Amino acid sequence: MGTTLEELRRLQTVELQLVTIRQNREGKLRRVELLKRQIKQIDDRLAAHHTAAREKQMRLDALQLDVSAREDSISKHRQALNKAKTNKEYGLILTAMNTEQADNAKIETSMLQMMEEIQAFKDEGVAIDAEKKKSLDDLAIAEKALAALDAETKARFDALKAERDGIAAHVSPDALTAFERAAQRHDGEALAAVTRPRPKNEEYMCSGCNMTLPLDLYNALRTKNDVVLCKTCGRILFAEIQASASTAGRRSR
Ligand SMILES: [Zn+2]
Repeated sequence: MGTTLEELRRLQTVELQLVTIRQNREGKLRRVELLKRQIKQIDDRLAAHHTAAREKQMRLDALQLDVSAREDSISKHRQALNKAKTNKEYGLILTAMNTEQADNAKIETSMLQMMEEIQAFKDEGVAIDAEKKKSLDDLAIAEKALAALDAETKARFDALKAERDGIAAHVSPDALTAFERAAQRHDGEALAAVTRPRPKNEEYMCSGCNMTLPLDLYNALRTKNDVVLCKTCGRILFAEIQASASTAGRRSR
């Protein structure tokens, strides 16, 4: 195998470790962001709930004023009843009083119903508050896990990045571009070994996407130090047999 492919394989080893750390971090970060969105939604619900509760209470207060005003009127009518001079006058006052009393009884019934609704509403508010508290607790845990991961992996991540940059400096810009493109497309897995599924057959496959490769492409790969891409998945191909020799060589260094 040529030097470029050797360097790319070393780059691949480092890249995959970087991707693992990055994906792990992204998972934890997504959890933090999800919880923040949830808390924002709960806050919106709480705000709407408080507004609605306030409106209900205001309606109840207005009804209470209405009832009180009518009670005043009833007591005035009661006094007037004693001073009534004719039967007709007495009858008129009595009718007005009865109407007021009937109205108040009706309003008081709906006030009772409204009070029950307000109580149910308050219970609902307590439940939303509890939901928010739980989400805040979950968020604190998730943020702590993210910070712990960062503290734990920062040094390793930086070292891997430095190593990656060191190797990349020895790779030609074209090869590096091809590598980065394939790495981005396949979660860091930029390289794929060429396999020969049936030893008796002169048939070669890309181990990345399992598609058959043209024979001349395999021959080119064996004889030249070129970066050859799988036409299907875009991974950089390397020949399996030479690859294992390269691994042994690396180990002995
Ligand atoms: Zn492929």
